[in-house]
Parts: sequence; C-alpha cells; structure tokens
Amino acid sequence: MQEPLSFRELMYIDAKVLSYAEDIHNKHYRSFFTDEKAKNASNMMFIAYPLMIETEKYYNGELLSTYAVFKAMRELGENYRVTAYYFENLIIRIISFWDYLYQFLNMYFDLKLYDFRAKKRIIEISGYTPEFVSEGRGQRVEFKPKSNEEQKKIRKDLNKKLNTINKSNILKYITGIYEVKGNLKDLLQIIVNNNVGVFQEVRNEIIHQRPAGANFTVNFNEMLLNYSVLINNSGWIEFERYDADIERCMDLIGKSIQKVHEIVHLNEYPNRIQHAGIEYFVKEVTCISCNKVFIAPSLLLGDKDEFAKVVICPLCGEVGCKVNKTFKTTEVDYGTYLGNYLSAFEE
Ligand SMILES: [Zn+2]
Repeated sequence: MQEPLSFRELMYIDAKVLSYAEDIHNKHYRSFFTDEKAKNASNMMFIAYPLMIETEKYYNGELLSTYAVFKAMRELGENYRVTAYYFENLIIRIISFWDYLYQFLNMYFDLKLYDFRAKKRIIEISGYTPEFVSEGRGQRVEFKPKSNEEQKKIRKDLNKKLNTINKSNILKYITGIYEVKGNLKDLLQIIVNNNVGVFQEVRNEIIHQRPAGANFTVNFNEMLLNYSVLINNSGWIEFERYDADIERCMDLIGKSIQKVHEIVHLNEYPNRIQHAGIEYFVKEVTCISCNKVFIAPSLLLGDKDEFAKVVICPLCGEVGCKVNKTFKTTEVDYGTYLGNYLSAFEE
C-alpha cells in the first residue's frame, strides 16, 4: 500500500519543473487585441470592458499557470498523484472559463438568462409575500409564505420562464435575437466546437466518485450492473487521452478572448434580427445660433441633410444647424443617441 503524499510532496514544484513551466507560460502568454479605436467605441464598452479584462487576466493568470505546471509535469514524467492534482485543477479551470464567458455574453448581449443560483433564489423568494407589520413607531417587513397551491404554481411558471445560462441557451438566444455575422459568427462557432463536454464528464467523476490521483476506486460495472473495487496502481486517468483536448481547449479559449476583444473594440455590436442589414449613422452638427456642437441621429436630418435647417438645437432650443461629419454606429448606440437628443427637450 502506498503512503499518502505528504504536504511537501504534493505542493512542491522542483526547480526543473518550475523553469520548464515558466517557459511554457511565457510561450503561451497573450496580449489580446487592443486598439485606439476603443476610445470612441460604444456605450456598451462600459459594461463590457472590465469583464472582458477579467477573462483576459484569468487566461494569462490562473489558467495559464496551471496549464504550464501540468504540462511541465507531464513532459518531465513527474509522480502520478502530483500530476493528477494539477490535472484536476486544470480541467476545472477550463470548464469555469467557459462559464465565465457565458456570464459575460449574457450581460453584454442583454439575453436575460439567469445563473442557476439566481434562479433558485428568485423562485424561493417568490413563494413569500412581504407584509408590513407595525412595530413601535415604525414598520418592519415580514415575509409570509404563500399557500402550497400558489407556491406550486409559481415554481412551475418561473421554472419555465427563467432560462439558465449555459452553452446551448447562450447560442440559442444570441442567434434568436441578433443578426450573426463577422466576428460574432466566428465566436459562436468557437463556442459550438469548444469540446468542453469531454472534461465535464471526467470532472463529474472526480467531483462525485473518485479523486484523479486515486489508485483504489469504487467502480460500477455496466455489464454486471454491480459495484466492485478497481485497483489500478498507475492511476485511473490516462493523461495521454486528454493531452490533445487540453491543447485544443487552451487554443480555443485564447481565440474566443481575442474574438470578444475584436467585437468590443471594433464596436461590432449586432443589429436585432428584425433590423438585419440596416446601417445606422449619426452626424456631428454645429448649431447656427449658439455655435455649439451636438450629435444628431441621421433620421432627423434626412438622407441628404435636407432637414438641417429645421433641426432644433438641444442646447439653445433654436432651429437650424450645419452638418460637419457623419459616423457609422450600431443599432443599440443609435437608440442611445436618439434617446439622448430627445431627452434634452423633456421638462
Ligand atoms: Zn444652439
């Protein structure tokens, strides 16, 4: 019987592995697309930017360092149990990357999907009615449970109504709502082929059944339909079976981050399907009365700027402007420019 690994054995990375891993890390470290154009990019940038930078940091940080140590250990033929420890760490991080990316896409494309914890919480809270109860000079809120029938109905309705964030819903919702082309099309293709299912299976086995480093494990025999103890002194995971998938996953993760950067930096926010193919423009104009510059949606100026004489300046309220420049924009930003222009006239 082998002794369990000591803390030192499990955590210690010797100098040879460390320097080998550092080379691998440096080779795969990526600077993702950044462009000065980002400065005048979309309003959506404010939502997207910090989250996008987080996925980049995760790739170059936690994910890449784990990958580098695992790969170095594989290539230098380190102890099985120690390699297994890094294998678990790596595949869990690979799976998590895609979950983080789906969260980002849900937010950026406003898909209104929920992660399963949020969904569970919403359903739980909806089973109660808040009631105000007098207490001293003030009031406090008390949550009264609804009747069993009501709760059952709410659970059923919400379960159907609130859809969860996962690969298939992300693909379904984006293609169902938006016109998919260019970099977005490439990104969705990468997600379709991300092959993360391979790791999900082994991850579930590790989480629920046996650690990757185990030599003795409970095994369910599908022919005999019974359990037995499986002995495998060299370990139950054959790492070489996963080497190619790991390489592929790291490559696709890098590519997907790059695509997200291009979509955000180049402001390729897609049109909704019902407006597919339409191009949106706004114009920078100068008011002929107050001489100030403002942005007017092209709708107000007409195809040939024929309405420039009757456009109202949102700054001084006088009529008439001169067109300086035309910018191409996105449907969502066009809506924001229009909203901003109109809200200047609200009381
Ligand atoms: Zn003016």
